[in-house]
Amino acid sequence: SLCCGVMGRLLTRWRTLPVLATCSRHLSGYVPCRLHHRTLGRGKHLVLSRMFQPQNLREDQVLSLEGRSGDLTCKSQRLMLQVGLIHPASPGCYHLLPYTVRALEKLVRVIDQEMQAIGGQKVNMPSLSPADLWRATNRWDLMGKELLRLRDRHGKEYCLGPTHEEAITALVASQKTLSYKQLPFLLYQVTRKFRDEPRPRFGLLRGREFYMKDMYTFDSSTEAAQQTYSLVCGAYCSLFSRLGLPFVKVQADVGSIGGTMSHEFQLPVDVGEDRLAVCLSCSFSANMETLDLSQTHCPVCQGPLTETKGIEVGHTFYLGTKYSSIFNAQFTNIYGKPSLAEMGCYGLGVTRILAAAIEVLSTEDCIRWPGLLAPYQVCLIPPKRGSKEEAATELMGSLHDHIAEALPQLHGEVLLDDRTHLTIGNRLKDANKLGYPFVIIAGKRALEDPSHLEVWCQNTGEVVFLTKEGVVELLSTVQVA
Ligand code: ATP
Ligand code: MG
Repeated sequence: SLCCGVMGRLLTRWRTLPVLATCSRHLSGYVPCRLHHRTLGRGKHLVLSRMFQPQNLREDQVLSLEGRSGDLTCKSQRLMLQVGLIHPASPGCYHLLPYTVRALEKLVRVIDQEMQAIGGQKVNMPSLSPADLWRATNRWDLMGKELLRLRDRHGKEYCLGPTHEEAITALVASQKTLSYKQLPFLLYQVTRKFRDEPRPRFGLLRGREFYMKDMYTFDSSTEAAQQTYSLVCGAYCSLFSRLGLPFVKVQADVGSIGGTMSHEFQLPVDVGEDRLAVCLSCSFSANMETLDLSQTHCPVCQGPLTETKGIEVGHTFYLGTKYSSIFNAQFTNIYGKPSLAEMGCYGLGVTRILAAAIEVLSTEDCIRWPGLLAPYQVCLIPPKRGSKEEAATELMGSLHDHIAEALPQLHGEVLLDDRTHLTIGNRLKDANKLGYPFVIIAGKRALEDPSHLEVWCQNTGEVVFLTKEGVVELLSTVQVA
């Protein structure tokens, strides 16, 4: 507890610096950390005043933070900087602050569920990737300046992995006794990727260091590999549907990864850097890169094509034996003979999905999250200190206890805005900007008998007055990833 006390006094630019790794009470996850939790009512509560986050930066402060006021920013980047979700470190690199990490961890949990539902097995490969692997596929040269290269003390060359086809294929090839009976293998990881992008921009949408979920699949025949391809595409559709994000799956170019078939998952939105052609008469849609520029009609039904812009959030490739033949990734087939694995690779831009979701769902001034990913589900706003309603402060405490008892699934999801020197209106404005799905206020009607709390349901835009029991009933339907 000494560490908490000492850290608690270290002031940062924004607020008090909370927990560091040495705070074992916080890390345990069961005992509330003294620093983050205040007593109100019977239990300990997670309080906003101790959160590490800058708030309400003005537009000009946001621009000067980025240090390049000439550069256009987009809505998600501006909002994420403004409320302290991210902080710039160097061009295309950001510190992810606590709220973002919570949302990111939730997104990874949902991705894990979808990948494991189709038989995915999670691995974790080094970011430091030896040049020899890349020379074998000729991508050491082909990738050009995008590859971040370095040398170790012995002069051996490496790159920081922008993707892992080489590494995973060499790994599978090293397993000498694979049988067709064990296939398919669906191996995936969620790790940082590094690309020296010519134009890093739009915050987490195009970074030089970002999180990607990359899956690589190994099958014993082309038919089996095509089935696996559809299975993974199905899992991607399920993921975006669960997040409530409108997406289109488009025919795509194979680029430097190679292979014979490819699709992109795109979120249609104006800041998107990809141009898509969508047929309104049938389900055909394509990245314009794959079409002849003069093409104005759908190649499938001849209907007119319309153009929209999109953010690429996922990409799937059917690779065949392009990589397995180079690294000799083999298995023993049904006749007992060695045979090359048929491969696919499948990427999801994890940090890009977070920013793209904010881009698509938010208003100009207020962040909105996919419900499953909101960093905290509930924000409680007790009355202002010294106000007429102050007597309702205890009610907030007992509501908090009541939620904790009745809804264990919301453990750690309820935050108390204890800045009671501020008016309810000011705190509501902040809560609205941060986009907690539920904001609960002890206002005038809290003093009625029975007491009523004002509940803002941010994702439906409704405001309702409920008793303590009504609040618990409403929150019992909330899904948390
Ligand atoms: P883009 O065309 O946007 O540069 P890409 O086609 O080069 O992307 P892939 O190699 O297909 O990207 O990578 C898989 C996924 O990783 C992409 O669909 C995207 O969501 C994400 N991604 C790629 N580059 C970045 C980046 N610089 N920042 C954040 N996410 C990225
Ligand atoms: Mg791509």
